[in-house]
Amino acid sequence: MITKYKSRTDNSSKTKTSQSKRPFRHQLGTYKTKTPVKSAVIKSPKGDALKIIVLGGLEEVGRNMTLLEYDQEIIIIDMGLQFPEEDMPGIDYIIPNTAYLEGKEDWIKGVIITHGHMDHIGGIPHIMGIIGNPPMFMGKLTAGLVKKRAEEFNKCPKLGISEVDENSKLQLGKSFRVEFLRVNHSIPDCFAVIIHTPMGTIIHTGDFKIDYSPVNDKPADLNRIAQIGGEGILLLMADSTDSTHPGYQISESSIGDEMSRLFEKIDGRVIIGTFASQLSRVQKLFDLAAKHGRRIYLQGRSMNDNVEIAHQIGYLKFNPKILIQSDNELARIPDNKIIILGTGAQGESNAFLMRVVNGEHRSVRLKEGDTVIFSSSVIPGNERSIQNLKDMIVRQGAKVIHYEMMDVHAGGHAKQEDLKLMIRLLKPEYFMPIEGNHYMLRAHAELAEQVGMPKEKIFVADNGQVVEFRKNESGAKSGKLTDEKIPSDYVMVDGLGVGDVSNIVLRDRRVMAEDGMIVIIATIDSRTGDPIGNPDIISRGFVYMKENKELIERTRMRVKKIVKDHDMRTSADDDYIKNKIRNDVGQFLFTQTKRRPMVLPVVIKV
Ligand SMILES: [Zn+2]
Repeated sequence: MITKYKSRTDNSSKTKTSQSKRPFRHQLGTYKTKTPVKSAVIKSPKGDALKIIVLGGLEEVGRNMTLLEYDQEIIIIDMGLQFPEEDMPGIDYIIPNTAYLEGKEDWIKGVIITHGHMDHIGGIPHIMGIIGNPPMFMGKLTAGLVKKRAEEFNKCPKLGISEVDENSKLQLGKSFRVEFLRVNHSIPDCFAVIIHTPMGTIIHTGDFKIDYSPVNDKPADLNRIAQIGGEGILLLMADSTDSTHPGYQISESSIGDEMSRLFEKIDGRVIIGTFASQLSRVQKLFDLAAKHGRRIYLQGRSMNDNVEIAHQIGYLKFNPKILIQSDNELARIPDNKIIILGTGAQGESNAFLMRVVNGEHRSVRLKEGDTVIFSSSVIPGNERSIQNLKDMIVRQGAKVIHYEMMDVHAGGHAKQEDLKLMIRLLKPEYFMPIEGNHYMLRAHAELAEQVGMPKEKIFVADNGQVVEFRKNESGAKSGKLTDEKIPSDYVMVDGLGVGDVSNIVLRDRRVMAEDGMIVIIATIDSRTGDPIGNPDIISRGFVYMKENKELIERTRMRVKKIVKDHDMRTSADDDYIKNKIRNDVGQFLFTQTKRRPMVLPVVIKV
């Protein structure tokens, strides 16, 4: 069996609950479940317009979620989180804002998931419960990964998942007929979605590349793509992640040779950092291990989970004996027979690689002769932490090989020539670049122009901006990028809120930098929970206490009252009292000053 990395599930739900109850969050939004934004609801004139609204993924890579709405029916494509993959440190990720869907639960006819990456499935456990748990449709591997993720959240309802493949046809509601088109990516079982609507056919590519020789997956079906193109496409929505990269994306299968040559030269242990979700890469590494007589030790919870799921359903093929099961076994195997495969190639503070270099890993220490291979591209923003990580590895005597030095990396996304090919094959009437930062969408739009699409039929939208298709009296259809916007601002989740101190520290610093802090020290009787004396208050960067005596005094009295009014049953629970002080005082100070200082309650029991 596969060794399990200790799950953080129990802590996660607890932390999530307490965090979401806080009235003030200093991020760009809060995680609210019951705050319908009534004014922003745009009624769909009956049978009138087809609306396409991308809730996330137009101003960033991640948080992908798209709505199609017609005649009081809605279908949803993807429900991702931002950013980046599951080996993110597990704190404060962002999910799409679903305020628009509140009150429209009955309209939602289905949710389609294109593939199993976190930026497409990560929001599911948070969102499904608040939109009425509509039926879901996705590939087999995706279903396995979604179920696994849902298990980690006890607030997530039991999901109604149906598995689909390239032969599936769905009728969702009266207006949407859905088919699936196989595409390639860095994980198997990826589908583009074909949606036949009363206005015409829409294609949403999901993440894709065109790979003629993928690993453990079928090649993208170019014939079918061309055939569908021949039938007439109203709108193509296509992945823009690599739209600024010229040329063609290389095949997953071509990375093997380079890696293999690399392996031949290494005498010591091979330690590889990659994304757990890049299963095609993981398969390659299993094959290479078998070929070179090495065994694999999996590290990191997401790595163990993903390998287990994909192996169970046959997307990863290997002899289970190749896996090293325990630290003891690892210690007995010669170095030149070992591959340690883990997460953390982005320099994530809590992932396997970082724990190793910090000496926090329970058994793995770097030593002379080790070679650490980074096998994933650098996500923008992570450059510094990756450089630091590499420095630390080299200082500890190991060698570092990054894909930039050797071609051990194939990206998962179509590059410029692939993107142009897709547009040429599908010949859509309208085009909408999705899945990327604004500049990537613009670059993709330019490619569409290069292959002859008129500028006015290319929509570079922002998150929440409504695209509309209508028929005029003579029956001709026309599309428009409207000025209407539905809520799409950040919804923050304190996901698996354990361990990642650095993010919390950063967040606190932001709060303190803006509005300062106030420390409240309350002394209570440990037996009765009653207050002893008056609470002490210290302000830093919030208000000058000498000039705000009245405010401070009123705050002091509130705190005293909170402590006094305690529930007998929770007399000794200082967490409870602290939260109550934090919430109440935070609210009070905001109404008085319109500022949100960090409130730091300290409860001393005597
Ligand atoms: Zn993806």
